[in-house]
Amino acid sequence: MRIPFCQVVSEPAWEEEEVIRLQGVLRDTPVLSAEAEDSCLWLANPSGSYSVASTWKWWVLLKDPVVDVAVMLWKNIAPPKVKFYSWLAWKDRLKTSSFLKRIRVLNMEASSVCLLCRIEEETINHLTLSCPVVWNLWSDMVKWWDLVWVLPGSIEALLHWWAGFKFKKVIQPMWKVVPLAVMWSIWKARNDCLFNDKIVDGPELAEMVKLRVALWCKQSYRDLQYSVEDIVNNLDRIKV
Ligand SMILES: [Zn+2]
Repeated sequence: MRIPFCQVVSEPAWEEEEVIRLQGVLRDTPVLSAEAEDSCLWLANPSGSYSVASTWKWWVLLKDPVVDVAVMLWKNIAPPKVKFYSWLAWKDRLKTSSFLKRIRVLNMEASSVCLLCRIEEETINHLTLSCPVVWNLWSDMVKWWDLVWVLPGSIEALLHWWAGFKFKKVIQPMWKVVPLAVMWSIWKARNDCLFNDKIVDGPELAEMVKLRVALWCKQSYRDLQYSVEDIVNNLDRIKV
């Protein structure tokens, strides 16, 4: 008869681990104050207040926890610099005007208005999602794929939704590269406005995104049977 292998853990080491764990728990405990009144906090929202949008985001994230946004961004046919840029956007690390002002790279008098809509301040959420130009671009892309959606409230929720959507095998890489092409094209258009005084043209920008998606697909899959023209203009037939 074989005796199962048993690992003997010495008691002091076990206790040491428990002490370290306890210290970690205590470190994260909120500071209690006898003067402050108890109140309810909605943890799905960083501000602590309840909102339908934060509930939706929480539900979307909860619904499919196995979907990994990082995997979608890094295991992608987009060029490396585009993957890196998209990762920065996902992690809220873009060098927008409002960010540069906050860290004093731009002085406080410098304009931080969004160069795409020229209405609101250029924050990361605005530039990646809520700017009317950007919102239209995302909507165009969803329409291109013949889908209907409600624009999520954050880039995190958007990427999560995107990563969870499944198409047939040959089409899936094409679908996964779309959000990266959108974010990259927005940044390129924004820089064109900033450095070359260009004015962004929504339909032209949407065509540029489709073209990038098609070219990156053709570059990655040399034997892909569809042409750039097919991908840009006849996606509905390819998808079937
Ligand atoms: Zn804008």
